[in-house]
Amino acid sequence: SVKYFNGEFVKDSISIDPNDRGYQFGDGIYEVIRVYDGKLFTGIEHFERLLRSAAEIQIKLEQTVDDYMAICERLVAENYIQNGNIYVQVTRGAAVRNHLFPESSEPVTFIYTYDSERPVQGMKEGVKVITTDDIRWLRCDIKSLNLLGNVLNKQKAKEAGGTEAIQLREGIVTEGTSSNAYIVKEGAIYTHPANNLILNGITRQVIKTCAAEMGIPFIEQSFDKDALFAADEIFISSTSIEVTPVNQVDDQPFAVGPVTQKLQQAFEQKISAL
Ligand code: PLP
Repeated sequence: SVKYFNGEFVKDSISIDPNDRGYQFGDGIYEVIRVYDGKLFTGIEHFERLLRSAAEIQIKLEQTVDDYMAICERLVAENYIQNGNIYVQVTRGAAVRNHLFPESSEPVTFIYTYDSERPVQGMKEGVKVITTDDIRWLRCDIKSLNLLGNVLNKQKAKEAGGTEAIQLREGIVTEGTSSNAYIVKEGAIYTHPANNLILNGITRQVIKTCAAEMGIPFIEQSFDKDALFAADEIFISSTSIEVTPVNQVDDQPFAVGPVTQKLQQAFEQKISAL
């Protein structure tokens, strides 16, 4: 399939410099964008976040949101992607290994597409999650390539028979390892405020809009482990898993609830409206 690498559309394999700072330091940022029926879902929002992440770590990008959208639309068309994902990665570029930013290095951009079905079973029946300590850094608002904390916690969830880990920092629920986390209590949705401790998910923002449109309170207020276990409903969200109910946390079962289902229907309408 056709990929975009450093300003070119390439069909053949590409070569990555072993001195690329993404490879050595995780010094870069990324996005994952969903394609439904050959169309990008919230593409503009994803690229606005990419530009923000870049600015936060002082990577200077020449491309605009429109440039990235055009690249992705071309890849989606040339690769005949109907339902799939787009992975976008930008690193600070290649230079002799040194923690300091290089005096001169060009950012390296890599974009590819792949087919992927919607995870309908989890969306219907719910998924099991575990709780674990949030061992990540303090700039989780940047969608950085440094994902070791997320990787270790997700693996821990898998080894415990779950699919995601809900992370807690000082007893407060932050988010999943690759998703945002929410509880529903007495008809209202609660989720961690969008500060440095979580990634402000694009799906989270769509959910916020859906909730507003349906008159469901969406309260950006942190909550602790007791509140998590006392919730009426729990769900998680991301570009790949959309709105996915949680049916078990550690050893405690939860039912797939009506507020979660209403959000799923509203989300479905946003997709249909593409
Ligand atoms: N939080 C983390 C840590 C993530 O990695 C992700 C996405 O992968 C999300 C939240 C959800 O973000 P989005 O809805 O933009 O996919």
